Amino acid sequence: IQTILLKNRPKGTPTPSDFEFVKEDINLTPKEGELLLDTVYVSVDPYLRSRMSDAKSYIPSFELNKPIHSGVVAKVTASKNDNFKEGEFVMGMLDWKTQQISSGKELMKVDGDKAPLSAYLGILGMTGLTAYLGLTQIGKPVAGETLIVSGAAGAVGSVVGQIAKNLGLNVIGIAGTDEKVALLKSKFGFDAGINYNTSTDIRADIAKAAPNGIDIYFDNVGGPISDAVLFNINKFSRTINCGAISVYNETELPQSVSVQPFLVKNSSLMQGFIVSDYEKKFPEAMQQLAEWLAAGKLTYTETVVEGFENIPKAFMDLFEGKNTGKMIVKI
Ligand code: NDP
Repeated sequence: IQTILLKNRPKGTPTPSDFEFVKEDINLTPKEGELLLDTVYVSVDPYLRSRMSDAKSYIPSFELNKPIHSGVVAKVTASKNDNFKEGEFVMGMLDWKTQQISSGKELMKVDGDKAPLSAYLGILGMTGLTAYLGLTQIGKPVAGETLIVSGAAGAVGSVVGQIAKNLGLNVIGIAGTDEKVALLKSKFGFDAGINYNTSTDIRADIAKAAPNGIDIYFDNVGGPISDAVLFNINKFSRTINCGAISVYNETELPQSVSVQPFLVKNSSLMQGFIVSDYEKKFPEAMQQLAEWLAAGKLTYTETVVEGFENIPKAFMDLFEGKNTGKMIVKI
């Protein structure tokens, strides 16, 4: 059995030495009420970065020298729990281990015949729910409006744009490479895309792509990209503060444009969003996502990295934009 522990709290950008691999030569056997799980897919997500620090946040920090955990799809390989049978697949917040014992609490069964198993970590999982609930609950989209989303070619962003298109909005995406920008239009149906790495004047490029201004900003990245969006927001516009990956590795608070004047003069709303606060709405959101997926009104892409030993690298690669769509590790 292999396990990945948090060795150090990363200073700035995480490095391989922040993680420790431990190998144990043991046979795990479930006791009464327990089940044995073999890890199949591991989700790596930007929010794990904040759990690696000891700053107070909405979820507790990981403990040093303890296993890191995240969304995992696993196979039940032995069961002494009446609710689970050998051969079934489950999804839950599980340790970065190749094999583990679980009580079965807070595990959700997933069906590989209904959707590929990895989809339960993305479009039919946390990132799909984030896209749908952030957009609908805070963005309150209205057909004909213009939405811009940053981190547009990522797991959340690519779904936000497609949902907005399904709801009749004009959609612009901001992403980090020309390939990603091309994909926004060709695969995900966005109306326009901006490459923030090659743009020489992102504020002007947003204005050009959105001649009627921005009504909804779904913000996944924060920082200078978000500052540029502010200059283009409309009266009564809404900003969903979903994430701020551009500052997660900063050791000092970055200087930013002051948002208040933009909000005041536009009667504009800016609201933070944490998907777990909307748990009551998960069933209806899941149903809508699954319906759109089955009807071909939603699609997704994944970057699948192979091998347990590559979990930390896959996580670190999120901050380099190496993924398109959901970053997944296949064990
Ligand atoms: P993504 O699939 O979007 O992966 C991260 C992407 O961020 C990269 O591919 C990269 O794309 C982009 N990125 C990395 N560094 C920077 C940077 N310095 N400036 C701009 N873009 C950068 O991840 P997720 O879809 O899982 O998450 C997206 C955001 O949503 C994150 O901020 C995350 O924390 C947040 N989130 C929030 C949740 C909530 O409940 N509030 C739940 C889930 C996610 P590129 O090549 O375009 O730079």
